[in-house]
Amino acid sequence: MSWLLIILSIIVVWVASLYKILHASRSQSNAAAFLGDKRNVLLVIAHPDDESMFFSPTINYLISRGHNVHILCMSTGNADGFGNIRKDELYQACAVLKIPPKQVKVLDHVDFQDGFAKLWNHNLLAKIVEEEVITRDIDLILTFDNYGVSGHCNHRDVHRGICNFLAKTSQRDIEAWELISTNILRKYSGPLDIWLSILSTMHHSGSQMHCLLNEHPRKSFQAMSQHLSQWVWFRKLFVSFSSYTYVNTLKRINTIRHL
Ligand SMILES: [Zn+2]
Repeated sequence: MSWLLIILSIIVVWVASLYKILHASRSQSNAAAFLGDKRNVLLVIAHPDDESMFFSPTINYLISRGHNVHILCMSTGNADGFGNIRKDELYQACAVLKIPPKQVKVLDHVDFQDGFAKLWNHNLLAKIVEEEVITRDIDLILTFDNYGVSGHCNHRDVHRGICNFLAKTSQRDIEAWELISTNILRKYSGPLDIWLSILSTMHHSGSQMHCLLNEHPRKSFQAMSQHLSQWVWFRKLFVSFSSYTYVNTLKRINTIRHL
């Protein structure tokens, strides 16, 4: 009987969380303060599918408010030999997310190959990001934090490359934000994590942290399903139960600490 009560309670909270997400829309008081004016945003990721699997709440938030979102994907995700296919899949996912193809760039560079045993060149990554920032007139960068959500070394190298860029760039006005990695319990708690994400954001003063609820979780599923080569049963489960499908917490990267 007690098990039944626990299961029923979880279902009730799950449904309440989904209701909160779907009705948050533009009434998110905290998120409303995030990026008032129209910005040119560069999302830097490691592999095709990072954008749909981890960053879709942020992308949906930005696109629905008229910001220009650009994506720089540092590799084709060729660890299993599907690099060319995965590159095309990224463009298809971006079409679902309403990011124009001309604003998406996928690199296939010898120093940035997909894989756990590959150490990426942080200095070169910083240089490439600087070129993109100048060419595309970028004023805000989004990327992984130091753990990279899944702990994948390529995600962590992207973060370090961005920090390297921030420390050296002459583009002093540029803002950079990282996607906060949560512990494994929170990571697989689906929409339930929105409450902890909102609470943790409230504990940070000023405008250094923002919690963005996904206004279109269905669009995130559709985007991820474009990555057909990756769309196996355990990733379908991941997308359903991952809190990153429903909420993103972003923290401003303090550039001073890297100088
Ligand atoms: Zn990845």
